[in-house]
Amino acid sequence: MPTKRCPHCKDVALEPTQYQQEEVDICRHCGGLWFEKNEVNRMIAEINDSPIGEKYETHFGKSLGVSELDCPDCNKSLERFHLLEDYHCEIDVCRHCDGSWIDKDELEVVANSHELKEHLTELNEKVNWKTYLFQFLTQMPIEYNIQPQKTPWVTYGLIALNTIIFALYFLSANNFSFVLEHFAMTPAKISQGEQLWSVLSCVFLHGSVMHLLGNMYFLYIIGDNLEDALGHKRFLLLYLACGLVASFASFIVSPLSDIPSVGASGAIAGLFGMYLMWFRHASLTFMFIVYHKKLSAVWFFGIWLAINIFGALSGPSGIDYSAHIGGFILGLIIGFILKEQIYTQNPIIGLLNKPFAKIKR
Ligand SMILES: [Zn+2]
Ligand SMILES: [Zn+2]
Repeated sequence: MPTKRCPHCKDVALEPTQYQQEEVDICRHCGGLWFEKNEVNRMIAEINDSPIGEKYETHFGKSLGVSELDCPDCNKSLERFHLLEDYHCEIDVCRHCDGSWIDKDELEVVANSHELKEHLTELNEKVNWKTYLFQFLTQMPIEYNIQPQKTPWVTYGLIALNTIIFALYFLSANNFSFVLEHFAMTPAKISQGEQLWSVLSCVFLHGSVMHLLGNMYFLYIIGDNLEDALGHKRFLLLYLACGLVASFASFIVSPLSDIPSVGASGAIAGLFGMYLMWFRHASLTFMFIVYHKKLSAVWFFGIWLAINIFGALSGPSGIDYSAHIGGFILGLIIGFILKEQIYTQNPIIGLLNKPFAKIKR
């Protein structure tokens, strides 16, 4: 058998090696791999005995024409393909010998291609009459994101805790005013050094059923993915940190106010900030009167922030905009600091955030 040579490094000979139980040839110089017999196509499709010469377009993306590289087996020019229809990382294929050349930095993508394909199918689902009706009736968005691997116990626990606390005081007018008096955050009292615990306790209180439902819905759709990416403990700590910073922001803006402040919104706004940094591929549906559209997380929370800044500037209202903005800014900072770590610990999230991923909205 003639020696195979690296299509990149030309005079470097390829050596046989193992890659995920497959016999492949590696270039020790550039780290590229030559997969024979349609293996790459098979990895994507997870089919066991795909016939040689199966149409590449079935599993790969578009053909991009002739490559500059030559086939290590037959020396004919390779052909460039998008790895997947919706993942535009390029690979080189020889239709003649059914082999694929994978550069070193593409290996992680190829190894995860089957999973990426499944996720992209879900992420790219179109809005339909059901999503329209849901949002029209509830005014709440539908989220398009990958399914978490771990059960989000902390998210569920926080939702249960908030609901139980609310149920305990809301039904009795006496209890309601007692709780508001002692556990809502009133900046004027904090200024006097009184009821310092209220900066945290107020995060677990809500003023009305709609207030509770709206916050818990967002905690449910956003929290599960963040908890999955961060792990349970870190998620809980960061949630509480965002809640505290939100209370602090609310206090700083009007330290003498005697209006009590309650709600998980500030802590949840912190989650929005992290979500926006790590889940660029995610979409949320947005509704304006009767117009309904999928938006990227960046646009969705960008619009949300604009509404909050506008609210904060237009003077006093029932909504604590400064707490939202404070929590959100901390979330963005945490999101920025932990970004690389999150992508390393969750390769799929990292890969979906590369520009190769084509998200349809
Ligand atoms: Zn090479
Ligand atoms: Zn060939």
